[in-house]
Amino acid sequence: MRLTRRVHLVGSGATGADLSNPYDCHVYLVDGGGPLALIDAGVGLEPELILANVRAAGFDPANIETIALTHAHADHGGGSGPLHELTGADVLAPGPAAGWLKQADEEAISLPRARVGGTYPADYRLAPCPAAVSISGGDTIKVGQARLTAIATPGHAREHLSYVLEGDDRTGLFGGDVVFQGGRILLLSTPDCSIQDLVATMRRLGELDFEALYPGHAGISLRRGRQHVDAALRVFDAEEIPPNFNA
Ligand SMILES: [Zn+2]
Repeated sequence: MRLTRRVHLVGSGATGADLSNPYDCHVYLVDGGGPLALIDAGVGLEPELILANVRAAGFDPANIETIALTHAHADHGGGSGPLHELTGADVLAPGPAAGWLKQADEEAISLPRARVGGTYPADYRLAPCPAAVSISGGDTIKVGQARLTAIATPGHAREHLSYVLEGDDRTGLFGGDVVFQGGRILLLSTPDCSIQDLVATMRRLGELDFEALYPGHAGISLRRGRQHVDAALRVFDAEEIPPNFNA
């Protein structure tokens, strides 16, 4: 599903457009004019559906050079191992999350409780991604004629990055699970979720200039993405907490 000159939606689950496995987050393809990158990898249950969408958009999955993860929660990072096996792409994950994916450390990504809570199927297991490499805020990723810059955006998870896209027909922010349509946020009861970190992250995003907001779930904004950050900030500024996005 083409969104802009360089961005396509190639994976999306039941909380989105139902393009791929129901447990998938939004998976975006960045077309660098030859080299390709994926933002996030979905849950890993039907990675072939994501690659079928890449082909249907007119691209060869063999040209996917990079899979950049916003964070390692299973709906975003679980597909990194399976997609690496299918494409050979480099897998970039925030800081220590690369190690968690290498070891398939389910505790580190709060998977066991999410499984018990019914967020994932009872028989779902995290596939290891031996190829995962660490990336940090400030790092840049060249994708042909486009460029991604990682920004540290902790809050929903301690190890969480967002990516600013330049070189497209508009600036964009791949926000992962930081902010959703209408300024909703996603607080979890996991030990590494921090409301204070999320407030600081939102203020940082409030200083960025971008048009498109490509979140990890639900509605996508192609022209006025900043308004969703501003909506969250208005609530935080009133010392309240924005409504939670219930995936
Ligand atoms: Zn998440």
